[in-house]
Amino acid sequence: MSIEVELPDGSILEVDENSTVEDVAYEIGKGLGDDTVAGKIDGELVAKEEEVSDGDEIEIVTEDSDEYIDVLRHSAAHVFAQALKRIYGDEVKLTIGPWTDEGFYYDIEGLELEQEDFEEIEEEMRKIVEEHLEIKHEKLSREKAEDFFEDNEYKRQILEEEASNEGQGSSQDGSSASELSEDKVSFYKQGEFKDLCKGPHVSSTGEIEAFKLLEIAGAYWRGDEENEMLTRIYGTAFPGEKDLEDFMEKRREAEKRDHRRIGQEMDLFSVPEHAPGAPHYHRKGMIIRRELEEYIREKNAELGYEEVWTPELNKANLWKKTGHYEAFKEDGEMFAWEQNDEEYGLKPMNCANHSHIFDSNTRSYKELPIKLSEFGTVNRNEQSGELSGLLRVRVMTQDDGHAYLRKDQIEEEVKAHLEKIIEMYDEFGFDVNFIMETKPGKAQGPDELWDEAESSLENAMDEVVGEYEVKPEEGAFYGPKIGVEVEDAIGREWQLGTVQLDFVIPRNYGLKYQGEDNKEHYPVMIHRAILGSIERFMGVMIEHFAGDFPTWLAPEQVRILPVTDENKEYAEKIREELSDLRIGIEDRSWTVGKKIQAAHDDNVPYMLILGDDEEETQNLSVRDRKEREEDGVGLEEFRKALKKETEEKKLEPDFLA
Ligand SMILES: [Zn+2]
Ligand SMILES: [Zn+2]
Repeated sequence: MSIEVELPDGSILEVDENSTVEDVAYEIGKGLGDDTVAGKIDGELVAKEEEVSDGDEIEIVTEDSDEYIDVLRHSAAHVFAQALKRIYGDEVKLTIGPWTDEGFYYDIEGLELEQEDFEEIEEEMRKIVEEHLEIKHEKLSREKAEDFFEDNEYKRQILEEEASNEGQGSSQDGSSASELSEDKVSFYKQGEFKDLCKGPHVSSTGEIEAFKLLEIAGAYWRGDEENEMLTRIYGTAFPGEKDLEDFMEKRREAEKRDHRRIGQEMDLFSVPEHAPGAPHYHRKGMIIRRELEEYIREKNAELGYEEVWTPELNKANLWKKTGHYEAFKEDGEMFAWEQNDEEYGLKPMNCANHSHIFDSNTRSYKELPIKLSEFGTVNRNEQSGELSGLLRVRVMTQDDGHAYLRKDQIEEEVKAHLEKIIEMYDEFGFDVNFIMETKPGKAQGPDELWDEAESSLENAMDEVVGEYEVKPEEGAFYGPKIGVEVEDAIGREWQLGTVQLDFVIPRNYGLKYQGEDNKEHYPVMIHRAILGSIERFMGVMIEHFAGDFPTWLAPEQVRILPVTDENKEYAEKIREELSDLRIGIEDRSWTVGKKIQAAHDDNVPYMLILGDDEEETQNLSVRDRKEREEDGVGLEEFRKALKKETEEKKLEPDFLA
């Protein structure tokens, strides 16, 4: 018997039944067969020993494939586990150890590890690498597998889950196992170490040239707060030292910019224990937030938006009308409860409330588009384990907006939004990439509307954006989507804004307008957030600027440093003269050098050093955070320059440039 598989170039290959990925590779050519590390079946990474089935799409993974790094990192996780076993013996219980985008982790139990232990473990890992142990695939009967994990209830649970087919079953999990038909379980073995594993792996421990253990964290077994807390050790691996060094350098740079640390040092915000995922803005953080809001308000007005405000607390039946109830409540993502015999909730989205406002009047085609914007605070019950600073929160304020329009207005509106998005991100020094996601399989709404809307989006993207990525069939069920991804100062990518068309909410909610033909029509809806949410944008922005905010955003724009205590009175006078700027006075009796250092540490864009000379000449000695200096600057000259700098939203202090 033979079966047919499809290769990446679309060609069909006939192979024997029960062929493995590796057999397929040999069928294509001996060289490829020899080089095979792993494979992909219908897009999922699998071991080369995996059997293929009729109709599968097969890709062969070699050392040159993008997926090779994932395979290598998973093998590194095994080397880590083997090293632990060598050092700590049966004291340590292994659970799961998958690869990640940045490396790998292994969750363990029974061992209190500290950062200081890494050196010893890494040394043992180095030995294992130098032993060049062959990594071999092995199949065990279920019974033997259970015996093997007699003392490890976690691995036994994985086996059980697999048997009842409730397990995750993905090789990404790294711990999953089994080929049920034969009731055999898949293991990988290297030297004396053996682990339940679906693979794939590199062929020898010797291939893992560069690796590093990174940090220790806690993680619940199976991500469930009801379960045991395990110890998670993160590490990474690369095919060569140079790649690892580059990675570590980037990581150090990212750590320096960590918004949680900068947020604390600059006293911008906190996320206290009493409000998980709900950031509190302190005075200085609130200054930045207010500046951002004013900025967005201005841009929204330019796009023709009218600002509204809608409440967080609503009856849950509001979201039954739009379909959000199903999407959010049933996933446990919405905060909702019974009160006075009614179900209430906190809004997870602003769309429904804005639709109410649209619906509160009869609308004519002449009024369209109607555009409503709001700094809309929404609440979503994100898993507590995933909360982090300003980047992953439960309470956030979106720079939300909804436009209700006729379908002949789609192209023009989308163009205007795209232009504004590019303009705005440019003002923060971000590069923007656009991603268009088109009609998915489970789409709702009329087909001809989808076709028309997609071609309008395409026209708008071609004209305004030029080059962009298309993700076919990844749009929402209610309409096609444009995602906005920005690249920060150190090249990291963040998904922030979005422009989405919606054909479904207007129908669900029964929104209507009177057309030129005197008949009632459904409007098309655009959901858009330009910066995304204030929280997430601020988090990304803090890291992007590393706390060195442009002067227009800096909580303290200028700090006056009196040379001696005798100059303090004059400092006060200057502060009054420049009262349209945000000015602080350093009143600690330190040396000027120490005062300058403190202002640098606090990321203040400008310093005015005022001593007897300055008092006498009535001029200013100006210094900026880029360590440029100028004496004899007139007060009026400085005031005007800073006014211009903030109005033009210059990214760096400009006056002494
Ligand atoms: Zn594994
Ligand atoms: Zn919306």
